[in-house]
Amino acid sequence: MNCKHRAVLIVTKAVEGTSTSIANQRVELACGEPAGHPGTHHDKRRDERWEDRGPELTHLLRHVDEP
Ligand SMILES: [Zn+2]
Repeated sequence: MNCKHRAVLIVTKAVEGTSTSIANQRVELACGEPAGHPGTHHDKRRDERWEDRGPELTHLLRHVDEP
């Protein structure tokens, strides 16, 4: 029985020549640890970890700088 906690990872990217950034990728994560595990949730496929913030869906932001 797995934890099944879910989160959404939103990858943002700077718009060239401006100070704004746009979301260019949305990745759904699912924890693959056993149910009731201690510590952070962990999506083993993407190797992403996130804190438990209660029953609400967690949104993670990741900014990526690309040339
Ligand atoms: Zn978990």
